[in-house]
This record gives sequence, C-alpha cells and structure tokens, in this order.
Amino acid sequence: MKAILAPSSLIRLPRHKVSSLRSPSLLIQSRRPSSALMTTKTASRGSVAVTAAATSSVEALREGIAEFYNETSGLWEEIWGDHMHHGFYDPDSSVQLSDSGHREAQIRMIEESLRFAGVTEEEKKIKRVVDVGCGIGGSSRYIASKFGAECIGITLSPVQAKRANDLAAAQSLSHKVSFQVADALEQPFEDGIFDLVWSMESGEHMPDKAKFVKELVRVAAPGGRIIIVTWCHRNLSQGEEALQPWEQNLLDRICKTFYLPAWCSTSDYVDLLQSLSLQDIKCADWSENVAPFWPAVIRTALTWKGLVSLLRSGMKSIKGALTMPLMIEGYKKGVIKFGIITCQKPL
Ligand code: SAH
Repeated sequence: MKAILAPSSLIRLPRHKVSSLRSPSLLIQSRRPSSALMTTKTASRGSVAVTAAATSSVEALREGIAEFYNETSGLWEEIWGDHMHHGFYDPDSSVQLSDSGHREAQIRMIEESLRFAGVTEEEKKIKRVVDVGCGIGGSSRYIASKFGAECIGITLSPVQAKRANDLAAAQSLSHKVSFQVADALEQPFEDGIFDLVWSMESGEHMPDKAKFVKELVRVAAPGGRIIIVTWCHRNLSQGEEALQPWEQNLLDRICKTFYLPAWCSTSDYVDLLQSLSLQDIKCADWSENVAPFWPAVIRTALTWKGLVSLLRSGMKSIKGALTMPLMIEGYKKGVIKFGIITCQKPL
C-alpha cells in the first residue's frame, strides 16, 4: 500500500497561495535577460511582475527539462545507476576509481549532505521526506531505507516518475516511497508536512530561485531540515554587479544543453534563507570534492559501451556529452561552484 505517500491529506487540492509566494527584492534576477531560457522579471520592492513572455519561456523551460530527462535518464541509469548527481570524493583521491568507486562516491554525497545538515542516523524525527527533483528516485529509496521514512519524490519527467516507481516496486519499497510528476515551484502538498526537504541537484533548473526556496520552506514541517545541493556560480565580489562576460558566456553554453535558467551563487541562497528568518543556515563549497566526477563521466562516455549507448539515446544525450568538458572548465576556472546550503525551519 502506498499509504502515506500519496494520501489525499498530503495532496493539496486548490492551487496554493501564489500571492504568498511573490518574490521579495531578493529575487535572483536573470543576469542575462535576453536568454529564452531565463525568466525576465521586473522586481520592485517586494513585488514581481512576470511578463507574459517570461511565463511562456518558463513553460518552454519546463517542457525542455521534461524532454531532456525523458530522453537521457535511461542512458544515465544504464551506465551510472540510479543516482543522477555528482559523487563526493576526498580532494586528493585518485581519479582512476573503478565504477563501483564512483557509485560509492554518489552515496557518499548523500551521506555527507545529511551529515553537514546535522541529520544523523539516530534521528528518529525523520518520518516524512520530500525529494524535490527526484530523478529516478535514488536518493528517496536510500533515505527511506536509512531512516525508515516515507518519501515522496517529484520530477518534471513522466519517464523518470514511472521508472522510479518501478524501481521502488522491484525493491519492495512501494509502501515507503512513491513518485509523481509535479513542479517544484508549485508543489501539490499541504504546508508544513515534511521533516526533511531534499533537493539534490535540481535547484539549478529552477527559473525563480526565490519561489523555489519559498516552496521548500512552505512544505517543511516546523523544525524540519531543508537541504539544497546545487550547481552555483561563484560568489560575486564586493561591488561586482555581474559575472565577467566570458564567465557568463561559458555558463550560457552549458544552460542551452542542460536546460538551465540563470544561475545564482551560494550567497544568493543564503540571503534568501535569511530573508525568510530560517535557522541554522549553513553553506559550503564542495567544488574540490566533486572534481573527479565529470572526467569520470567523460571516460565512461568514451568506452565502446558508452558510445553505443550514447548514439542510441539520441541528440540530447549527445549534446549533453559534448557539453561536459565545459563543466570541467567552469570548475577549473572557478566560475562554477558545487554548493550545499542547509537550514532549519523554526518550530
Ligand atoms: N535528485 C536526483 C536527480 C537530479 S537531475 C538525483 O540526485 O538522482 C534533476 C532533476 O530535477 C530531474 O529529475 C528533473 O526532472 C528535476 N526538476 C527540474 N526542474 C524541476 C521542477 N521545476 N520541478 C520538479 N522537478 C524538477
């Protein structure tokens, strides 16, 4: 039985209070409003006007993300398994790790994230978890098993949601975890019901970071933990208004292939959380810990099996593979940062 995982009590019927989600002046504005993938917004003292053009570009982004993951998730699973996120490595570790070494590094990413946020194994309070941007549910199944918690995952991709549910059934976890297609910016859940709100590498896809964060906070239970692990750009220096043009250009090229809107920094996330009076706000830069990841992904893509699977998977996967070196360049040049940001919702 799926019991608590999709009960009507958790699913909110009316569209939730969009007005209460109006972004404050801390809205992360597109640094490059001309991009079709970015939301063009006009911010003025706590209110935001989203133009019709912006709305349709957000819609196009949503569709692009869904299609991207519909098309590429099978390939990723075949080669890398059910975790669609970076691994966590010791900064001095060898980049020649075996396949199983990389999978362990992906599990370690989950463990390190929980530890950083102060969520320990002894934690009895973690009963309900939402996995925002769940992929094919690797984190959900792992966390549900670890804590005996009930976990519900949301993704924009119907292919991912189905595969995630099938994997849960195959692992006899359907009574604990379930997955559905839903938008992280308008989650179909009641306020204040999740002890852990988990977003592993989905924040970079969100066109309105302020709305994203508010939604995470809204669904968190009082005292609940929020963990955001995400691709960021470097923090801007004092007085700096925007990234350098060459830096923005690099990110724009990545955005096109991976269906990403404007990026923000970890400091921007911290500012947003502070503006919402959240507690125990912490962030860290784990860029060094993820450095071996993309070179390893490229190596697997260049194997015979990798190349055949890539060709079979289609254009989006091929374009994705061709963009991977830009991720490495972005990290090396310090433009891209791998950030974790956590906080607690006040009781
Ligand atoms: N967290 C997963 C998958 C990361 S891939 C893992 O670590 O394995 C990014 C995921 O974010 C995809 O599942 C994609 O569908 C989801 N996503 C992106 N934008 C979203 C949105 N607006 N609402 C819900 N899910 C979204």
